[in-house]
Amino acid sequence: WKHAPAHFRTLLEMSRFHGEKTFLVYEDEHITFEEHFRRAATLARRLVEEYGVTKGDRVAVAMRNYPEWVVSFSAVLAAGAIAVPLNAWWTEPELAYGARDSRAKLIIADGERAARLASTGVPLIVTRGDGPAGARTFADVMGEVTADVKLPDVELSPEDPATIFYTSGTTGSPKGALGSHRNLGQSPMTVAYGLMRAVAMSGRDPAEAAGARRVTLLTVPLFHVTGCFSAMTGMMFTGGGLVLMYKWDPEQALRLIEREKVTTMIGVPTNAWQLMSHPDFGRYDLSSLTTLGYGGAPAPPKLLERITENLPDRAPSNGYGMTETTALAIGNGGADYQARPDSIGLPSPVVDVRVVGPMGDVLPPGEVGELCLRGPNVILGYWNKPEATAQTFVDGWLHTGDLGRIDEEGFVYIVDRAKDMVIRGGENVYCAEVEAALFEHPAVDDAAVIGVPHDELGEEVGAVIRLAPGATATPEELRSFLADRIAKFKIPVHVWFRDAELPRNPGGKILKTHLRREILGA
Ligand code: ATP
Ligand code: MG
Repeated sequence: WKHAPAHFRTLLEMSRFHGEKTFLVYEDEHITFEEHFRRAATLARRLVEEYGVTKGDRVAVAMRNYPEWVVSFSAVLAAGAIAVPLNAWWTEPELAYGARDSRAKLIIADGERAARLASTGVPLIVTRGDGPAGARTFADVMGEVTADVKLPDVELSPEDPATIFYTSGTTGSPKGALGSHRNLGQSPMTVAYGLMRAVAMSGRDPAEAAGARRVTLLTVPLFHVTGCFSAMTGMMFTGGGLVLMYKWDPEQALRLIEREKVTTMIGVPTNAWQLMSHPDFGRYDLSSLTTLGYGGAPAPPKLLERITENLPDRAPSNGYGMTETTALAIGNGGADYQARPDSIGLPSPVVDVRVVGPMGDVLPPGEVGELCLRGPNVILGYWNKPEATAQTFVDGWLHTGDLGRIDEEGFVYIVDRAKDMVIRGGENVYCAEVEAALFEHPAVDDAAVIGVPHDELGEEVGAVIRLAPGATATPEELRSFLADRIAKFKIPVHVWFRDAELPRNPGGKILKTHLRREILGA
């Protein structure tokens, strides 16, 4: 099993062949594949030799998107331990929960996170800034990094656990998703498949289409699966560069695309939307950019239209995935996406998809039910949560909690999260559909549809809208605009305008529970 393809160490060793090419970029720092390998191998050895880390131990990583995040993640896996990326946006009690829940033996953190984790009593290795008294620094632990460093010896099989990623916590408290080496090993191949399919559809030669080396700008955190797998391991696999950002900032993104000659931007739909809305959008040279990949939240068809208009001849793609599916599972790109902008596309060739009704019956094409997935990308289960595991993973099928349908040709459509759907007098209203219709209106910059309690109907439809800078619209105007697009019962009865940005979690998802609380006090 030592060189099983579905094995992180194999991927790490292979990435070394990319040698002196740049792998990681953060501000002015550029780190080559060779340097990354040496650092990761060195840290892996220190973890084993100095901290006694052994197979199956949990080692948490709590940082912003610094190069050390990638080094630490790689080192933990190479040492045979389970990497536990903690959400860098978490507050002290949330971080303490992550450390406790995972029973982390050790935490590698940046200064800011380390301060918030000090009270856990878990040993800390601290990078970027001062840690609490007694914590060792990253540089001290690393010591000398030599050219002949070798990975520590560990025996691992593809089914061994590799990661615990916490879900985004959009619908409840975050759950630890226990993923195996096989799960993560297949992820770069799934990403490459989507890319190659889009190239094939365009009739181009893959080598010519790849053109210059791929350089990915990552606009979302590494502590969620999109950043770690669709972007980071994807670049390790193909030898591309990964440009990291401390946090999402459209102007900074424009600057980095120009400076680093970025070819691909990977993030959530809002990132692409905000990039194009930025007042200085036209001032930067974005000619290197050939692909925009986004997912993690509904992408309104209007987004594709805006990309076609503002960034012509690029290849946008919409990917669907969950923490539980080790990132990308279903993707839409190329001519498929142009023809069906409302679809999340076709399943990865290693994934089975079906739609089931409330009684667990498999529904025929066209009917809406819960989307279920099966495949080598589906995680082993939730860490420490036997009940949630039993409910979500049934007979080998992952129940996604997303409502969707599959058409005759196999294209998948997400209609809503089951928990978001508004049931108005017995009629289902899919928020994502109403939001997509609102995005068609030129004055709408952002929109969230929520259910508003109603005595007679159970729920009514409400919409929270952020208008584009300088734009105006009244609720009546928006309602009459929607009347041409969606059925009457779906049109928001309540419309709230909001100046501030809509609250989002780091995964780019609108926090509807916060909005409901803020607006309805419920
Ligand atoms: P939690 O499970 O803790 O409530 P979460 O489901 O938001 O949080 P993630 O695993 O990060 O945590 O997100 C997966 C979810 O994101 C999917 O179940 C789906 O609802 C949504 N999603 C992902 N990609 C897409 C996409 N392309 N289009 C629409 N929705 C998407
Ligand atoms: Mg979820």
